[in-house]
Amino acid sequence: MQERPMTETADAVLTAPKGYTLEEVTWVHHWTDRLFSFRCTRAPALRFTSGQFTMIGLMVEGKPLTRAYSMVSPAWEEHLEFLSIKVPDGPLTSRLQHIRVGERVLIGQKPVGTLVPENLLPGRNLWLLATGTGLAPFMSLIRDPEIYDRYERVVLAHTVRQVAELAYRELITQELPRHELLGEMVAQKLIYLPAVTREPFPVQGRITTRLEQGLAEREAGVAPLSPEHDRAMICGSEAMNADCKALLEARGFVEGSNSAPGTYVLEKAFVTK
Ligand SMILES: Cc1cc2nc3c(=O)[nH]c(=O)nc-3n(C[C@H](O)[C@H](O)[C@H](O)COP(=O)(O)OP(=O)(O)OC[C@H]3O[C@@H](n4cnc5c(N)ncnc54)[C@H](O)[C@@H]3O)c2cc1C
Repeated sequence: MQERPMTETADAVLTAPKGYTLEEVTWVHHWTDRLFSFRCTRAPALRFTSGQFTMIGLMVEGKPLTRAYSMVSPAWEEHLEFLSIKVPDGPLTSRLQHIRVGERVLIGQKPVGTLVPENLLPGRNLWLLATGTGLAPFMSLIRDPEIYDRYERVVLAHTVRQVAELAYRELITQELPRHELLGEMVAQKLIYLPAVTREPFPVQGRITTRLEQGLAEREAGVAPLSPEHDRAMICGSEAMNADCKALLEARGFVEGSNSAPGTYVLEKAFVTK
C-alpha cells in the first residue's frame, strides 16, 4: 500500500488560520494519475462569483500550506468542488492528491479573479478558452444561468494532451443538457469543443492554431471571431495565455479587468516556476 504523506487529518484537533475555514471533503474522483477532483462542504458565509478562485490547502506540520484554486462549482451550489493537478513533488498537490472523504481542507474566505461576467462588455457569443485545469473556472461559469442570459452562444474550447484528461466531458455532454434547471439553456446555447494534442481524437491541435485557421469557428458553427460581436475568457498555461492574447489583440480585442471591462479577460491556470 502507498505510504500516506504527513498531513493532519480530521482526527487531529485543528483550528483554521485567519481568513480560512476548515471544510470536510465529501467526494473524491481521480480522472488520471495527473488529475483529480474533490468536493467539500461550503461555509454559509462564503460568497463568490462563478469564475473566481480562492486559496485552498492543508495544515502541514501546524502551518497552512495553500495555493490558488478556481472553483469548479457554480456560485449557487451548496458545496464546493475543485479540479486539481497532481504534481509529484509539488508541496501541496503531492499531499492533496491523497485526500479522502471525511478529511478536512482549508478554504480561503476571500475569492477573487478576473474571469467574471462583469469584466466583459456586452456581446453576442462568449468563447471560453481553456487548457488542462484551466477548465475549472469555466465549469463554474457554464453552470451559472447568468452567462446564458448575457450571451446567445457560449463556446467552451477545452484542449488537453490525452483523451482521459478531458475531465467533466460526460457531465458537459450528457448531464448538463438534461439538468432540471439549466438543461434548456445549455442545450440551446452551449457549444463544447474538446480537443486533444497528443493522441488520436476527432479534433486535434491547439486552439490558437484552430482559431488562426478559422477551424474552431467552423467546428462551433459560428461567425469568425471578432471584437464587435464576440467576447473571450482565457485560462491556460502561461504560453497558451500569451498565444491567445496575441491572437485576440491582433484582431482588435481589448483586455478587461476588475476596474475596466473589455472584450476579453485572462487568468493563468497556474504559474510556472
Ligand atoms: C489564479 C490561479 C488559479 C489556479 N487554479 C488551479 C486549479 O483550479 N486547479 C489546479 O490544479 N491548479 C490551479 N492553480 C495552480 C495551483 O495554485 C498550484 O500551483 C498547484 O495546485 C500545484 O501546487 P503544488 O504546491 O503541488 O506545486 P507548485 O509548487 O505550486 O507548482 C509546481 C509546478 O507544477 C506545475 N503546475 C502547477 N499547477 C499546475 C496545473 N494546474 N497544471 C499543470 N501544471 C501545473 C508548474 O510547472 C509549477 O511550477 C492555479 C493557480 C493560479 C495562479
